[in-house]
Amino acid sequence: MTDQTNALHFGYEKDSQGTMVVPIYMSTAYEFKNSEHAANLFNLKELGNIYTRLMNPTSAVFEKRFAQIEGGVAAIATASGMSAIFSTIVNLCESGDNILVASAVYGGTSTLTSHTIKRMGIEARTFDVSNGLNLEELIDKKTKLILFESLSNPSLSVADFDTIVEIANRYNIITVVDNTVATPVLCKPIELGCDIVVHSTSKYTGGQGLALGGIIVEGESCEAKIKNNPRYNHFNEPDESYHGLIYTQLPFPSFTMRILLCVLRDLGATPSPFNSWLMIQGLETLSLRIKEHSKNALKIAQFLDNHPKIKKVNYPLLQSDANYEKVVKYFKDGASGLLSFEVEDYDTAHKIADGTDIFSVVVNIGDSKSLIVHPASTTHQQLSKDELISAGISDSLVRLSIGLEDADDLIADLEKAIG
Ligand SMILES: *Cc1c(COP(=O)(O)O)cnc(C)c1O
Repeated sequence: MTDQTNALHFGYEKDSQGTMVVPIYMSTAYEFKNSEHAANLFNLKELGNIYTRLMNPTSAVFEKRFAQIEGGVAAIATASGMSAIFSTIVNLCESGDNILVASAVYGGTSTLTSHTIKRMGIEARTFDVSNGLNLEELIDKKTKLILFESLSNPSLSVADFDTIVEIANRYNIITVVDNTVATPVLCKPIELGCDIVVHSTSKYTGGQGLALGGIIVEGESCEAKIKNNPRYNHFNEPDESYHGLIYTQLPFPSFTMRILLCVLRDLGATPSPFNSWLMIQGLETLSLRIKEHSKNALKIAQFLDNHPKIKKVNYPLLQSDANYEKVVKYFKDGASGLLSFEVEDYDTAHKIADGTDIFSVVVNIGDSKSLIVHPASTTHQQLSKDELISAGISDSLVRLSIGLEDADDLIADLEKAIG
């Protein structure tokens, strides 16, 4: 079955009412058949619903469907993209460990890794995602994961998957790919050899800017990397917090089981069933929408590229772009709806953002409506000058998230704002 068919049907068996739409199971907890059944669920003799912080039937449909489309073996939905990333880091790291993070990442990922987890004793070391050049020299025994974006927000670098995966596999380190901007329709990191995929589903998956959400997908390759690997001892030794449970001895994917039984249990970054339901609706049309976003974005990138007042346009599918070869190699059906461009200076960037009518000045991306933002004064304001440079963000950069309006209307709007 193709992704588009799975996006409409996979993982849902109709209830006795024949309900066509996946029901929203708003319930905090679930009744056990009897005390023995309850005990069996708690000691994992059976898997089943206990409490919505851990699992929910609406979220479960979303998780199964998304895992199938990403090509993974299991998935866990979270309250937001940031909680998906934080839960993943916490699942693998403790104080004294380090992680390798691409320097070009989403602003929240940048502050999380360079500041928040640093206070918890986890060090983030940065590398260049576009070529993976300095990656190997950063690795030591305490390196627990390599985190990068398939297509980075907002600098639009395409990851050099082959180089990064080869190094990660040689050292038996788990790769974590944030596939938010690309979506599994355009790029499939698990097929490219990666182990874990995370998303902010608040963006293209939801698709209309309706709700926050995140998801963590485990690829089949992850289990072999964890099992008997001294880097990941805590998966191979008894977990005191769960009666001495050893995750790698469970008949389920152990990365996902530990997220569920330990990280969600203790941190609780669970989505509302209503938000999971919204994500299920979004997923149905994701592949149709993202191809249209991509078509519109390419047309607008070409327009900007030919405009005398625009100094530089970043869009991977422009043949002049440094990422062109990689996007052709690793993506199909387009390069998503994000693009950025350089103008004369800071004030000109603000003038253009304020001069549009159709575009809204919004920090979000992946909405069906077109959005414009000046990253240096908003999403990336908290980064230092050096961090901005290594993230590829200048004072005069403007980011567009191209929506589903008519491309010619959007071009006319930009033409007027640029003046
Ligand atoms: C938005 C975003 C996030 C954070 O997701 P939230 O759902 O806003 O918490 C993480 N990564 C990327 C690439 C994003 O665009």
